[in-house]
Amino acid sequence: MKNAPEKWPKTALYEGIIPRMERSILHSDEGKRHQKQLDRFVTVQTCHDCQGSRVNEKVRSCKINEKSIADLVELSLDELQAFIATVDAPLAIDLKPELTNQLQALIDIGLSYLTLNRSTSSLSGGEAQRIRISKYINNALNDVLYILDEPSAGLYSKDIERINRALQRLKAKGNTVVLVEHHPQLIQTADYIIDIGPAAGEQGGQVQFAGPYHEFLKQPTITSQELQKMIPVNDTPRHPQGWLAVEHANLHNLKDVSTKIPLGVMTVLYGVAGSGKSSFGEVIRQTALENKQEVIAISQKSIGINLRSTPLTYLDIFSDIRQLFAKENQVSTTLFSYNSKGACPHCKGKGVIVSDMAFMDDIVTECEICHGTRYRPEVLAYMYQGKTIVDILDMTVNESSQFFAGETFVK
Ligand SMILES: [Zn+2]
Ligand SMILES: [Zn+2]
Repeated sequence: MKNAPEKWPKTALYEGIIPRMERSILHSDEGKRHQKQLDRFVTVQTCHDCQGSRVNEKVRSCKINEKSIADLVELSLDELQAFIATVDAPLAIDLKPELTNQLQALIDIGLSYLTLNRSTSSLSGGEAQRIRISKYINNALNDVLYILDEPSAGLYSKDIERINRALQRLKAKGNTVVLVEHHPQLIQTADYIIDIGPAAGEQGGQVQFAGPYHEFLKQPTITSQELQKMIPVNDTPRHPQGWLAVEHANLHNLKDVSTKIPLGVMTVLYGVAGSGKSSFGEVIRQTALENKQEVIAISQKSIGINLRSTPLTYLDIFSDIRQLFAKENQVSTTLFSYNSKGACPHCKGKGVIVSDMAFMDDIVTECEICHGTRYRPEVLAYMYQGKTIVDILDMTVNESSQFFAGETFVK
C-alpha cells in the first residue's frame, strides 16, 4: 500500500473504509469546518473496552491498594487525598508529601469536588484561576511581588473567603500582593488601597486616593462612598517594609500616574470597570522588573520547570572538555554529552523525572538511576586527571579554571 500510515505493517493492503473516512474527512481541517453537518452522521459514545478511562486493560490491571489509575482519576480531590494517605509503598515516599501538599492547596481553596479526569477546557474561569493561585501558595517563594487580576471574578462569597485566606497566606510568607479588584470583601482585607478613576476610559486613569483602608473610607471618591455601607474589618493594617515608586505612568488611559506601592503588604487597586486598574497593574509589573524585584503575574500562562544547568554549559568550553575526556579515555566524545549517547536512559538526560499531574503542577523528582547527574552510570567510570565529567560540572567557574589551567581553551 502506498503512503500507509506510520506504524502499519508493511504487508497491509487496504486502509479500510472507517479509518479512511476518519483520516480524510472527519479529522481533516475540511471536516472540522463542517463539523455541524458531519455530526448528523457520526455518534460519539463512551468506548466500551475501557469505559472511557482511555487506558488499556494492562494499565487498568495495575493496582495500588485495589485501585487502578482509572479508578483514581474518578475520585474527587478529597477522596483522592484520603486514598494517598493510605499508600505507604517505598516508591511513593518522594512523591507523597508534594502530592499531598498540592491536593490540600486545591481542597483549601474550595475545589475538593474536582476530579483529575476533568479536562482543563471544562473548568470555569474561576476554577482555573483558583488552580493557578493554589500553585503559587504551595511553593515556598518569598519576597516576590504577586499581581492578581480580579481573583474574585465569578466567585461566591464563600469561595472569596477561601481565596482571601489563600492570599493572606501568600502575604504571610513575606510576599507583596497586588490585587486588581472591586469586590468589597477583598478590598476590606487590604492593608493599602489605591483608587483609580474617577470614571472609565477618558474620564479615568488618575489616582484618586492612596492609603490605608480606614482613611480611604473618609474619602469623597465615588468608590469610597460606595464602600461606606460596609463595616471595615482590617483595623490594623500591616506596616510596609518599603515602597516601590511608580513614576509618570501613561499606559493606555493612565494619565501621568505617579504613586508608591507598599512592599510586604497587600494592596488593592480599586475603581470602576475600565478606569485603568489592569493597566496600572501592568505598570507595576514593569516597574518592579526594572527595579530587579522578582515578579509573578498570575495569568493563563503556565510556568516552565527549571532544569539543572551549570556555569559550564553557559560557557563555550564544555565541548572542549568533552574532547579532553574522549582523548584521555579513547572513546567517543558523544559519550560525555548528556544530550547524546551519554544520557541516562531513565530520565533521558534531564536528571529529573517529571510526573504529569493533570491540571496541577508537575511533580519533579531527582532521577533515581543517575541521581540527577544526567549521565548513564558507565560514563562516570571515565576519568580525566582523577575527575569524572560530573565532578567537572559540579565545579564552580573558579575551580574549573584552576583545574584546566594550561589548556588552550581556558581564558
Ligand atoms: Zn477505550
Ligand atoms: Zn537519570
